[in-house]
Amino acid sequence: MKEFDYIIIGGGCAGLSLAYELDLHQKLISKTLAIVEPRKEYLRDKTWSFWKVSPHNFEDCVKKNWKEFSIKNSSNSRIIKCDNFPYQSIDSGLFYKKIINKLNKNKNISFFKNINDLNINNAFIFNSVPSLKNTSSNLWQHFYGVEIETDQDFFNDRTVDLMDFNCDQRNNVHFFYVLPFDKNKAMIETTWLSKEDLSLKDYEAQIKNYINHLGIKNYKITYKEEGAIPLFYPIYKKEKNKINIGTAGGMTRLSTGYTFLNIQEHSKFIRKNLDNIKRANKYELKNKYKFLDKVFLKVLKKNPDKMPNIFDKIFSGYTDSAIKFLSNKSNIIEDMTIILKMPKWLFIKSIFN
Ligand SMILES: Cc1cc2nc3c(=O)[nH]c(=O)nc-3n(C[C@H](O)[C@H](O)[C@H](O)COP(=O)(O)OP(=O)(O)OC[C@H]3O[C@@H](n4cnc5c(N)ncnc54)[C@H](O)[C@@H]3O)c2cc1C
Repeated sequence: MKEFDYIIIGGGCAGLSLAYELDLHQKLISKTLAIVEPRKEYLRDKTWSFWKVSPHNFEDCVKKNWKEFSIKNSSNSRIIKCDNFPYQSIDSGLFYKKIINKLNKNKNISFFKNINDLNINNAFIFNSVPSLKNTSSNLWQHFYGVEIETDQDFFNDRTVDLMDFNCDQRNNVHFFYVLPFDKNKAMIETTWLSKEDLSLKDYEAQIKNYINHLGIKNYKITYKEEGAIPLFYPIYKKEKNKINIGTAGGMTRLSTGYTFLNIQEHSKFIRKNLDNIKRANKYELKNKYKFLDKVFLKVLKKNPDKMPNIFDKIFSGYTDSAIKFLSNKSNIIEDMTIILKMPKWLFIKSIFN
């Protein structure tokens, strides 16, 4: 059985981001790395989007940058400028290709399909396969999206529709998300924040209705994407020679599902602390965000009907503070600005419940 200095379990976003970061910074010249990934082929399967609040290694995989986005509900439609923190979308197909090409050039990096082919006893392990304790009360962000091409120019390609709540809510939180890559090309996603509920998964009909409601008649679907992000933390067992990364490592902001940039920052932290990784502190999202997200989700669970209004309020006034808050970059004054915009009584009740 083969032995390695480091093993990454799961060659998805977090596993590959970490391997790339280590390779880029020459951390694998005299050390060996095995990546365990069962998938047969790397194909585009996700579109990772976020406000660019910090630099990352994948600028060349960005499909598009936008400098404004909208929040819409039945009583208001708000356009928000984000010149300081452009909203970016990364094509996972380009991301996988770039990383695999680079890693294949390093003879100290090997790929395996099965962990049983490796001796794991003397290696340090980075695990990205989450262990989820799922219960029926857990919330998920689940979604289905299609990329479409229309026969005529239709979209305003300067503005992302981040949340359009003008749709059927079914006693949950439901919105449409539109990434206009071009005037005739966009990704349209139906997104739910809910407990597990099969009755909400008639995604194709939802998308069809929405496209119809937008007034688009002739289009073809060029790509489809489906996913579910747990809005609860996976089990994290402290082990001497192992740390969890990615979703498994708690890198998801529970109020939003945003994970990609947190994964990149965690990869940088590991690279900087690699020589002393067994003694390094656990890298975590700040406690203030964990606490506030927990309260936010409690409010959301009990008052789904209030959420279109609450999201609208978050993005009222000076919006850079909202972006920074949702991207874990806010200072105490910016935190207070967001907290003060919230319906106080609902949030106070949730803290004490
Ligand atoms: C469709 C989708 C869209 C998303 N969009 C966004 C977004 O726009 N912005 C954002 O910030 N976040 C987004 N997320 C959340 C998050 O960024 C992604 O889930 C991201 O891929 C998480 O990275 P990860 O490495 O933890 O998990 P993954 O990328 O899922 O990687 C885990 C890997 O482990 C492999 N694996 C599974 N079982 C085993 C096993 N037993 N042994 C070894 N390997 C195994 C899998 O094949 C996979 O490659 C999205 C999530 C999904 C599902």
